[in-house]
Amino acid sequence: MLPGFVDTHIHFPQMFRVGCYGESLLGWLEKYIFPEEERMSQGNLAAKYSPLFFRELFKGGTTTSMIVSNSDLKTTHFLFEAAKATGARAIIGKASMDRMGPKSILRGTAQDQEETYQLIEKWHGEAERLYYAITPRFSPACSLKTLKMLGQLSQEYPTLRVQTHFAETLEELKLVRESFPNFKDYLATYEEHGLIHSRTVLAHAIFATSHELKRIKTRGAHISHCPTSNMFLGSGLYPLEKFSQQKTVTSIGTDVGAGTSFSIWSSLAAAYQVQRLRGGDITPGQLFHMATLSGAQALGLEDHIGNFNAGKFADVQVLDWSKSPILRKNIEHSQNPLERFFATLFQFERGLISDVFIQGKKVTD
Ligand SMILES: [Zn+2]
Repeated sequence: MLPGFVDTHIHFPQMFRVGCYGESLLGWLEKYIFPEEERMSQGNLAAKYSPLFFRELFKGGTTTSMIVSNSDLKTTHFLFEAAKATGARAIIGKASMDRMGPKSILRGTAQDQEETYQLIEKWHGEAERLYYAITPRFSPACSLKTLKMLGQLSQEYPTLRVQTHFAETLEELKLVRESFPNFKDYLATYEEHGLIHSRTVLAHAIFATSHELKRIKTRGAHISHCPTSNMFLGSGLYPLEKFSQQKTVTSIGTDVGAGTSFSIWSSLAAAYQVQRLRGGDITPGQLFHMATLSGAQALGLEDHIGNFNAGKFADVQVLDWSKSPILRKNIEHSQNPLERFFATLFQFERGLISDVFIQGKKVTD
């Protein structure tokens, strides 16, 4: 039995787009992702597929996730409803974007604000499991007006989390410089609108400058490291030690559909490999912490989840070694729980998790 994992960055409408060949971030968004997000907003597709999305997360041991939805209201309502019905713990935000995409997925500032209010009103704090997150897709997809509106919402509702992308690829940094010539750097495009604080999760942050690193620390924001996505798109290798040295929390995200697995187990294996490739290191204990208590801290849920301390909710994954005879033998040779955990990272397969509980209630079949 282990604490349920916390996935701090995943995109619901991209669930069927894992493994789209041959592009880096901006080309991949345009060629594969924007058309898919448009498709997933049609009819009742989101209602049909969102329960499957959560069940897939459970199969990888994930009990809490921070999710980027589509830009539209309907998809996001469906996603919250599925989270409620399946028993998932989730922080969900409608992707705010009013430029840099096909018209059908863009939302003007006023409409975006109105729809966001509706979602906060209906879902934020529901059942002590569901929360809303302010979600600028990333600066280049937001006008100054939209960023300002989102920043004001963040001040107005001090319990709302913020999730967004930051410094993922070099090509994106260039786009930010061109789109925001009057801002000193990428972080400032969020920061000057009041969007960087202790309730903020920044996905990627591979290319944060030393100035940005310092301000992330000062403002108490958190990072979601998404290694399978970074390797798949060829974005870059996350400089873990820069964040660790200044005690900024690094949590872990799958970033499906650029990420190649719904399973945090696979993401942790990739996180280890990324640091080895950089000539660095990350210990089994650090990896375990990243997927549990660091994730809870990043989402402001450390008083509720992240370990088995008394008084916390029972979010639990149960593994059954007998499902994998080779892993089982390996485990028998292991000296301690962290060795067993580490061996499992690299041999994790579907079916290994027999049961998942959230808030003490069984959510798997
Ligand atoms: Zn993402």
